[in-house]
Amino acid sequence: MQLNRLEFTLTTRCNSQCIHCQVYASPSRNEVMDVKDASRYLEEVATVSTLDSFMIFGGEPMLYPRLVVAILEKPTNCRYPR
Ligand code: SF4
Repeated sequence: MQLNRLEFTLTTRCNSQCIHCQVYASPSRNEVMDVKDASRYLEEVATVSTLDSFMIFGGEPMLYPRLVVAILEKPTNCRYPR
């Protein structure tokens, strides 16, 4: 198996509540992915593939900028472009 790209839904929280939203994000939702889980997913994928890229989506991930930065700092030993 070769994975080229990994995408995280960091949170379902968003300032908006669009009818077409694929994760039904809204201001009333508050699920947030744990940084440890995101790091573990990246490390596990690194054992089988070298990703070309990964992205962090939501909801609105920039409602949690420290988490975004923490996740982006993790894959230094996974050979992922940033
Ligand atoms: S994540 Fe995007 S599509 Fe979903 S509610 Fe927010 S702005 Fe709308």
